[in-house]
Amino acid sequence: MIRIVFLGTGVAVNVANKAQQSILMEDDRLILIDCGYGTMLRLHQAGYSVSDLDAIILTHFHLDHCGELMGILKARWLNNAGKIDIYSPVGGKEIFEYFLLASRYLNGKLKCKIHEIRDGESFSVGNMRFRARKTVHSVESMACIIEDLLISGDTSAFPELYEDVNFAIHEMSLDFGGKPDFHTSPENFAENAHSIERAWLIHLYPPAYRNRDTISGFLEKKGISVHFPDDSDRIDL
Ligand SMILES: [Zn+2]
Ligand SMILES: [Zn+2]
Repeated sequence: MIRIVFLGTGVAVNVANKAQQSILMEDDRLILIDCGYGTMLRLHQAGYSVSDLDAIILTHFHLDHCGELMGILKARWLNNAGKIDIYSPVGGKEIFEYFLLASRYLNGKLKCKIHEIRDGESFSVGNMRFRARKTVHSVESMACIIEDLLISGDTSAFPELYEDVNFAIHEMSLDFGGKPDFHTSPENFAENAHSIERAWLIHLYPPAYRNRDTISGFLEKKGISVHFPDDSDRIDL
């Protein structure tokens, strides 16, 4: 059984006092998928310590998905925690070097290994095996698939994203009529996510957030069971 805790279900602006995006996955290991601002506080509120983490998967390097990376690594250093594996899209090593340049005092102190993951590549953290799928976003970005669950990260919905998956923790940045060039709108999701039976929608900007009853009604009519998890909600896979 994999336990999933929605630590942060928000976006880059404040919506309903939600933390920015972060999802905790726990099996024999403990993994963070993304760590936007607010992650550490929610992690502690959920009863975990940064030192408990075995790996961090970053879907991409926008601050609402990686803003607390350096803070988490610094806290682990202060706690004498061991080395942590970080999985990121291609380019992650270079970006991490820039983060370190901006925080020179941490040079040589942070214990982590960055693994750049290519489109279609698989990787395992303990019992949890993930497949990466490149997404359509404004920067290099990946979705992760574990068993038949997709964790979308930020993306426009497109048919290949949903191959072999029936469940999705998915972004819904846009309201009806939003242009789905780098993010998902309800129509864009319904047109492409044919295999999805159940979706946990997160990462809603204010117009979509205010309209979530209409969004869920629209998607339920297309056969997709919809949930809007709040920060700290838990599900078991
Ligand atoms: Zn983004
Ligand atoms: Zn985002």
